Formats: sequence, C-alpha cells, structure tokens
Amino acid sequence: MTFATTYDDTNIFARILRGEIPCDRVMENDHVLAFRDIRPQAPVHILVIPKGRYRDAADFGANASAAEIEAFWRAVSQIAGAHGLTDRGFRIIANAGADGGQEVPHFHVHILGGKSLGAMVGK
Ligand code: 5GP
Repeated sequence: MTFATTYDDTNIFARILRGEIPCDRVMENDHVLAFRDIRPQAPVHILVIPKGRYRDAADFGANASAAEIEAFWRAVSQIAGAHGLTDRGFRIIANAGADGGQEVPHFHVHILGGKSLGAMVGK
C-alpha cells in the first residue's frame, strides 16, 4: 500500500533537521531526532521525528523503511525510559491532517508525561 504524498520542505521541522533553526535536542541517531516542544503541555513534552520526509503517521507507516520504523519506535521507548516516564506512565500523541489538528506537516509523535494527563480527548 502506498499513500500519495506531498511533503512541504519549508515546514519548521524540516528546517530544524537542516540546522536552520535551533532545537533543544534530547537524542539523535541516523534516522531520528528528538527535541523538546517549544510550547510544553506537560512537565515532559518531547517531539520525536524521523529524519526522512514523511508528512504524517499514515505516510510514515506506508512508505518508511523497516529500519526507519524500527529506529523510530526504539527511540520513543528509549526516551520514555530515559526521562523516567515508564513507571508512572505517559502519553504518545500523533496528530494527522486537518481533523487531527496537525500543525507541522512532518510526521512526529509527542511524548507527554510527568503529571496525570487527564482525559484523552477534549470536548
Ligand atoms: P502538531 O499539532 O503538529 O502535532 O504539533 C506541533 C508541535 O510543534 C506543537 O506542539 C508546537 O508547540 C511545536 N513546535 C512548533 N514550532 C516549533 C519549533 O520551532 N520548535 C519546537 N521545539 N517545537 C515547535
């Protein structure tokens, strides 16, 4: 299955990946960059992004290589552990498209934790 995709190379995360804009980096490897959200919604709020040009979760799942997908989810797990979130719990959010409220059109997950996060979806 292949999703038709267009990718906007001017999006803010593409610019962070190119080093044009700074970020508060928490980890990086060949496939993945993770950094703190500029407007944190919880004591821990980290964004994890693949280095490849994927617009959203559907694009990533359909078109990323096995190595990219493995590296991405291993990074999410590693970051949750490294920030002490695995005992108390945490939340992963991946917004996609207009209904999902996605602001930046480069696939990313939010890792949120460090407090009780309440209901999953607001009214
Ligand atoms: P989305 O709604 O696309 O899932 O979330 C995008 C996230 O990116 C938002 O939580 C927003 O605060 C964050 N963000 C937007 N611009 C920047 C930036 O320049 N630097 C960082 N670190 N985060 C950003």
